[in-house]
Formats: sequence, structure tokens, C-alpha cells
Amino acid sequence: MSCIFCRIVDGDLPSRTVYESDEALAFLDANPLTAGHTLVVPRDHYETVGDLPPGTAGAVFEAVSAVTPRVEAAVDADATTVAVNNGEAAGQEVPHTHVHIVPRFEGDGNGPIHRLFGSRPALSNEELDAVAAAIRSEH
Ligand code: 5GP
Ligand code: ZN
Repeated sequence: MSCIFCRIVDGDLPSRTVYESDEALAFLDANPLTAGHTLVVPRDHYETVGDLPPGTAGAVFEAVSAVTPRVEAAVDADATTVAVNNGEAAGQEVPHTHVHIVPRFEGDGNGPIHRLFGSRPALSNEELDAVAAAIRSEH
């Protein structure tokens, strides 16, 4: 088993675990963006968000919801950025779905997730309608 997060779940690699449930685990990121940076993972290996079975998806977000206020309180954060790099092109390096909980502070200057994107496309109403229809038609 080469997946490092599977190895953490199995206890074969050490981690600073901060929360456990039947289907999810949360532990400190080894290379934190800010103190308290926490990762929430499903215990079972699924690469992307879309691969998660519904029950597992629910369990992961339940863990995110439970852990986030504890992280904020522990490091006296004003807020958190809760985010997933979902797929390699989006910057996902560990191919085991994980939700980042990153403590944020007033005036930290790091901005919102929107800051990732330099420019926005000018989409017409017709183009927006077409995109929405395409998403709806995907089951
Ligand atoms: P990604 O880029 O895949 O969304 O994020 C992977 C995260 O996992 C990074 O923030 C990185 O610091 C963290 N990470 C990588 N290897 C380990 C490890 O062995 N243990 C822990 N706790 N975190 C890790
Ligand atoms: Zn894994």
C-alpha cells in the first residue's frame, strides 16, 4: 500500500490525529500553511470527491463540520478556509481525497479562494444556460 493517507489511517505512518469517526479521520498537515492546518480524509481510499459514495461523503463533511470550530478555537483563528484540491490539475498531490481546514486571521492578506483565478471569463446568458443544461444532463 503506497498511499500515504491510507498508511496514516492504518497506523503504519505516524500522524497528529485530532478527530476520528467510523468513516473519517482528521490529522494535522505535516507542512502547514498556518498553525492548525488540518486534513480530513475518508478512512477508505477514494481519489476524488466525485468518487465518494454518498454515505462516505456525508461522513467526511460531518467530520469537517465537527473539527473546524475546534481548530479555530485551538489556534484562536478568526475564520478558516475549507477547501479541496480535487484532481491533479487542481493541485492535488496526494491521490486520497482530503479536505483542507486552514486557519485564517483578520488581515492575514491571503484573500479568498477567488484569488486563485486571475481573470474571469465573460460568459453570455446563453453560454451560462448551456453550461447549466450540460451539468443537469450528467447523471
Ligand atoms: P494536496 O496538494 O494533495 O491537496 O495536499 C496534500 C497535503 O498533504 C499537503 O498540504 C501536505 O503538506 C500534506 N502531506 C503530505 N504528506 C504528508 C504526511 O505524510 N503526513 C501529513 N500529516 N501530511 C502530509
Ligand atoms: Zn489512500
